[in-house]
Amino acid sequence: MSKDITTQILHADRQQKVEHNAIHKPIHIAAQYSFADVRDLIAVFGNTPGYAYSRQGTPTVTALEQKITLLEEGINTVCFASGMAAISAVFLTLLKAGDHLISSHYIFGNTKSLLSTLENLGIEITMVDTTDIQAVKAAVKPNTRMLFTETIANPVTQVSDLKAMGDFCEEMGLLYFVDMTMVTPYLLKGKDIKASLVMHSLSKTICGHANALGGSITDTGLFDWSHYPNIQDMYKSYPVKNWGFVQVKKKGLRDMGATLSSEAANRIAIGMETFTLRAQKSNDNALALARYMQESPIFADVKYPGLESHAQHGLAKDLFKDIGYGSLIAASLRKDIDLVAFLNSLQTIILATHLGDNRTLCLPVAPTIYAESSAEQRALMGISDNLLRISVGIENVADLIDDIERAYANVMLK
Ligand SMILES: *Cc1c(COP(=O)(O)O)cnc(C)c1O
Repeated sequence: MSKDITTQILHADRQQKVEHNAIHKPIHIAAQYSFADVRDLIAVFGNTPGYAYSRQGTPTVTALEQKITLLEEGINTVCFASGMAAISAVFLTLLKAGDHLISSHYIFGNTKSLLSTLENLGIEITMVDTTDIQAVKAAVKPNTRMLFTETIANPVTQVSDLKAMGDFCEEMGLLYFVDMTMVTPYLLKGKDIKASLVMHSLSKTICGHANALGGSITDTGLFDWSHYPNIQDMYKSYPVKNWGFVQVKKKGLRDMGATLSSEAANRIAIGMETFTLRAQKSNDNALALARYMQESPIFADVKYPGLESHAQHGLAKDLFKDIGYGSLIAASLRKDIDLVAFLNSLQTIILATHLGDNRTLCLPVAPTIYAESSAEQRALMGISDNLLRISVGIENVADLIDDIERAYANVMLK
């Protein structure tokens, strides 16, 4: 089979002999599976792959998992009902009280909120500036178990020093867990940065159509689980390379139950067929829009990793090889422009949260996704009161620029 990821995804289901030679794996809705021989029932409760009860997976979900494994060139993938469920499963099954986790200042707000729950459970957390490898190195303690980071930060687009962190984790034997939602395997694979575990919110660019939620964890096969202290004895009957993955799947999926439905898995799999094309288009649009915004008097302080003015532009160029720089732009509206009137005048650009949609979305950051933060915290994060987050879609970029120009003209007339 071709190495090209679009070709691989388009033909992945057919490699598994789908019933009636259908080109898609069907949507299996059964909650349980039957057995003619009780020994087969017993076997799936052991180490033998198979289906017994759908909380632990269905053939439709497995087909999606296999495609994500292909994309990441990993060894195993498990899906969850959302990206947050996937992240929670890893933290709650691989860390325990007394462990130390290093994370980033620049992470998704809900993940940050989850970290505070972990602290209440007795896990020590240090947040560092992950654009600076020296800050990461300085945070390591004897009880450090895991380094968790994102790639391009939401909303201010800081780019973490992902390769340097991967090299460091390899040298230290630390588990390197990376939320790669913002880059997708189109720009960067977990293996390229030596990640141990890769998380994707499938709700974003990979699905793209904003019609399903999902999350995934992929084991890249790079981490040596034999010395990881938190593996429970019963999972040591599996090959060492699968220890961590089996624990996340059994404890995180089976016991906690945030299962992806077959219906959602099917929608995500259909979206995934075109995600590389959509990723390229939205990234090209974002670069064009960011260049326009940088020149425009409407905006100040435009942040986009593809702009030469971005603090980590060099790092981003090295990581993403100039293929693209993501679909997220952050910029402040000029102070004398009425924020509410401007946003309410937009017609093509949708006022909405969410990211990586086919449509372009915009929201004012401070009163929405940072509403729980104090003014001081927002200032520390570089979030001004009139900061806008734009998730760029796949429309004709000229239509997006026209929409902004029309909204601006409309506000200035008043
Ligand atoms: C959206 C998002 C998540 C959470 O994913 P859901 O599928 O919405 O639960 C996690 N991390 C990043 C970077 C995201 O953008």
